[in-house]
Amino acid sequence: MPTPPKVIFRQPKNLQSLIVRAKVSSRSTPVVHRGTFKTHARNCVTCSALRETTHVVSHTTGERFHLNTTSTTCTTKEVIYLINCLDCGKQYVGETGSELKVRHRGHRQEFRKCHTPLGFHFQTCQRCELIGLQNLTNSTKQNREEAELKWIYRLKTYAPLGINVKDMRH
Ligand SMILES: [Zn+2]
Ligand SMILES: [Zn+2]
Repeated sequence: MPTPPKVIFRQPKNLQSLIVRAKVSSRSTPVVHRGTFKTHARNCVTCSALRETTHVVSHTTGERFHLNTTSTTCTTKEVIYLINCLDCGKQYVGETGSELKVRHRGHRQEFRKCHTPLGFHFQTCQRCELIGLQNLTNSTKQNREEAELKWIYRLKTYAPLGINVKDMRH
């Protein structure tokens, strides 16, 4: 039978070294959220529409893409994003230089006015979710549109399988 006092005596030492190591590592590596995540628990329409995830799946091909280099919240600017229709499963890729929540206010206007492919889609469908696909820095509109186009092709979001319409950017 092992002698319990020995074990009890050694435990605090190990615990102490663990605490020290944890303190050191938390200081040297700041916590960086990966993927898309909510920052507001309530009263933010965009956060409530954000899906917290580190990957996306093309609903057209089933192909999965990891988003481990992104970090997207409702206040992220210069972002390529995905809208998943939660009613029919169709997808839309968009870009914005503004904060995502400002762009999402624009989406909601489109839903009401029905003057874009996205707005037209959400006349019949109702529920959507948003996921950040790519973060850019110091980008031009052209940079973002090129990145947007790559994601449209990756995820195959052109109509009729998706919601994006060729040569119509909104
Ligand atoms: Zn928010
Ligand atoms: Zn739909």
